[in-house]
Amino acid sequence: MTSETLEIAADFVVVGGGSAGCVVATRLAEYGFETILISSGSNDTENPIMKLKSSYSQLYKSPQFKHYLVPEPSPNLNNRTINVTVWNTLGGSSVNDGGMERMMANDWNAFVQATSDESFNHQHMAKYYKMSESFTSTDPSFASEIHGHSGPIKVTKTHDTAFNKVWKNVAKEIGEVFSDDLAGSIDYGFSFEASSLTNDVRSWSGDAYLISAVARYSNLKVILDATVIKFDLNAETKRINQVIFVSSDGLHSAVARKEYILSAGAFYSPHLLMLSGIGDSHVLKQNKIAVRHELKQVGKNLMDNGAVVVKYLTTGSDTGLSAPVALVNTRLPTTNYNPNLFFLLHRNDKTKHLYAVIFNASPSSTIGSVSLYNSNPLVPPKINLNYLESEDDIKTFVDGIHYVRKVMSTNAMNEHMQATEISPGTEEIDLSMYVRNTLTASNHFIGTCSMGESAQNSVVNSRFKVHGISNLRVVDGSVFPAGFASKTGPLQTIYSLAEKAAHLLHEEYS
Ligand SMILES: Cc1cc2nc3c(=O)[nH]c(=O)nc-3n(C[C@H](O)[C@H](O)[C@H](O)COP(=O)(O)OP(=O)(O)OC[C@H]3O[C@@H](n4cnc5c(N)ncnc54)[C@H](O)[C@@H]3O)c2cc1C
Repeated sequence: MTSETLEIAADFVVVGGGSAGCVVATRLAEYGFETILISSGSNDTENPIMKLKSSYSQLYKSPQFKHYLVPEPSPNLNNRTINVTVWNTLGGSSVNDGGMERMMANDWNAFVQATSDESFNHQHMAKYYKMSESFTSTDPSFASEIHGHSGPIKVTKTHDTAFNKVWKNVAKEIGEVFSDDLAGSIDYGFSFEASSLTNDVRSWSGDAYLISAVARYSNLKVILDATVIKFDLNAETKRINQVIFVSSDGLHSAVARKEYILSAGAFYSPHLLMLSGIGDSHVLKQNKIAVRHELKQVGKNLMDNGAVVVKYLTTGSDTGLSAPVALVNTRLPTTNYNPNLFFLLHRNDKTKHLYAVIFNASPSSTIGSVSLYNSNPLVPPKINLNYLESEDDIKTFVDGIHYVRKVMSTNAMNEHMQATEISPGTEEIDLSMYVRNTLTASNHFIGTCSMGESAQNSVVNSRFKVHGISNLRVVDGSVFPAGFASKTGPLQTIYSLAEKAAHLLHEEYS
């Protein structure tokens, strides 16, 4: 390093100012630790494109806020190249569609089974969900004691009297349960989604956690527009000495007196580990990277739900301000552990188009992996996407299309709005081909630094610690256990995991 390089130190260095990173850095500072957050994005929290739902479409047209990621062509999708999105801005991908769902109570058992750590049970994790949210409902009679009311993220459940009745009646006609709140004791069936968008304004970790904390805590330092390119790991002691990052004025380093927290998300967290010589030795050697710590599962077990859309042209009344969703099983009566389909309805008031977005809630196998093209840290990671490897997953989407058609043709729905299907359309076509031709990413990517008990089967332990390295933890969406898919959106769960990780560090170091 040259004499111009900046060298900074703190108790904790957090890498990645995304959804989880902003939560961890904020809480660590609040707990009194000197904390540095290094973010490749800039602070755009005052930009209406980030703040307002109505400006969201502009974000997609603004490449400067997006990481350049081009996955390999997907063999089961007729070799199409699927778009994946990771926002490069403070808060990362928490600048999203706003759906705020907790995991099903039973789903937390996957964490408990993978780790043998009971502190991941649903009851215990409920406290971290609560810590992150400030929940309100537009229905004053809504019982919300299971929700938090003083956390940073504003979460709103919008109640639309007319469509509420319709959706309840649709559930009844279909023979499904209606749940007032999927976060409550009935965590499946037809319901309405809570949102991080309230009256068009977004609440996300970059703004609600981090930026308000920067003004309050002098022990929190945020370095923007800086890309971490390597953890400098001592292969003998298995301790990270420093992180190296690059910004417009050159190469710099940061030292954590206590620990490093990696929060660069499901693509970049494994990428950065591999660039630092931590990963599958086979992959590292292929890319001429010296193996400093063998850890086979780094970058493996990528999971995503995938999404397929059924599109309608509608007349009559709309869905109001509410967000109708359903978490159901297409083959059996739905129970508290078996949903295989999540779908939501979204209507565009201007075009009168209604979109039923179908997600595969329980893919049969992982959908890909993250690896490297070469050892250049500024070259994006190699992403292999293998959606629909199992026929069962194609069947789930095809069943999902039939399920949505059944919903749209109920008397309750038809009395409220009349809908003509545009795509797949009313002509008889091969629906499995439709699924292969139109499936997109749902951007619920998780699993690439999976949590578990052993270094053979996972990357981090139940305390988020990278197996075998004494001062490095991963805290973001990548830590979901291998083979597990989030049945709905993962963001609220990622916030809860970040709250838990910060709490653990507080306990360990205070
Ligand atoms: C378009 C879209 C819509 C979505 N809609 C929903 C939804 O409605 N509901 C829901 O629950 N979930 C939704 N999701 C998924 C959810 O937003 C993500 O799962 C979640 O935000 C991921 O959080 P994270 O902390 O793991 O990663 P991120 O939020 O992606 O954070 C990673 C951060 O690390 C930074 N970074 C990466 N590499 C480096 C480096 N080398 N140096 C420094 N910084 C680095 C990135 O810039 C990024 O800010 C959506 C996602 C997208 C993309």
